[in-house]
Amino acid sequence: MKDGISTCIGIESTAHTFGVSVVSSSGKIFCDVKKTYKPPPGKGIHPREAAQHHGLHAGEILSSAMEEYGEKLDLVDAVAFSMGPGLGPCLRTGATVARTLAHRLEKPLTPVHHAIAHLEIGKLVTGAVDPLAILVSGGHTNITAFSDHFWRIYGETEDITLGNLIDGFARQAGMSSPGGPMIEEFAKKSKNYIDLPYVVKGNDVSYSGLLTALSGKLAEGEELADLCYSLQEVAFAMLTEAAERALAHTEKKEVLLAGGVAANLRLQEMVKQISEDHEAQFFAVPLRFSGDCGAQIAWTGLQLNARGVEIEIEKSFVKPRWRMDSVYIP
Ligand code: AMP
Ligand code: MG
Repeated sequence: MKDGISTCIGIESTAHTFGVSVVSSSGKIFCDVKKTYKPPPGKGIHPREAAQHHGLHAGEILSSAMEEYGEKLDLVDAVAFSMGPGLGPCLRTGATVARTLAHRLEKPLTPVHHAIAHLEIGKLVTGAVDPLAILVSGGHTNITAFSDHFWRIYGETEDITLGNLIDGFARQAGMSSPGGPMIEEFAKKSKNYIDLPYVVKGNDVSYSGLLTALSGKLAEGEELADLCYSLQEVAFAMLTEAAERALAHTEKKEVLLAGGVAANLRLQEMVKQISEDHEAQFFAVPLRFSGDCGAQIAWTGLQLNARGVEIEIEKSFVKPRWRMDSVYIP
């Protein structure tokens, strides 16, 4: 603690990205360094290989983060880490780094839920205060809002995430990973809608049948641009329909689009439209902070730590399948 301002170092390692950041309680991001594992062309993330990548680069990422921070590491007040959800071997690698830092620096260790951290950093960088949030990434697809100590889920995917759908189809079409930006580019070249399954159940979406249908159409020789366009139209409309119902129900006056897929301009356009229809302000997390990064963990960890959330090193087991609506926030 320096002049009443506290700082926290955050370690992110849930999936493809290993990130380190130091953030202050005034919201200043001193440094945010990350390195992302890229699977071989046509392949998905292999958990063990991603974890090896993180282990191999952890030291150099930590060093460059400290160089950017420009202060001694022992000045930080807390150490935060992504405790879940995510890929077990990747989570364990980050947790080991965080535990070592907490032990060496004799600072408290604060566990952070990765998805909640996406929303908290999104609120920080956009200025949204109490949004209905739509979190769309490789690991998450849900519609959520904070109420009475919990992020409540108002809709989610019943099977694969929107990021999985996009990357899965991109791989089948021979695109490099991650496929989202290329799918968006191809989609811009078409306005020819190919009929695909639109599956909304209750307020949840289901994307696995859509991926199967897209694979079939690709094999039948349909134009790639038409398929990318149709994928976006169907998948985004399903999510937007569910989000609009949640917005009408919660009567939130802000909508926050977060996670890697938030970069997609067509998705932004659709969500902005329903926000305006319900007189809610629309925010999309800028690209720099919409993907996985240490800053999301440092910022969320700092706030949790200020509310007394800490975990003993001996008990800091990672939780690969941790649901965000089970996390009590003091
Ligand atoms: P994250 O898990 O938050 O790092 O987000 C990664 C996901 O975002 C991957 O599935 C990417 O394909 C996807 N993505 C990134 N940019 C775009 C884009 N412009 N359009 C659609 N999806 C995107
Ligand atoms: Mg993520």
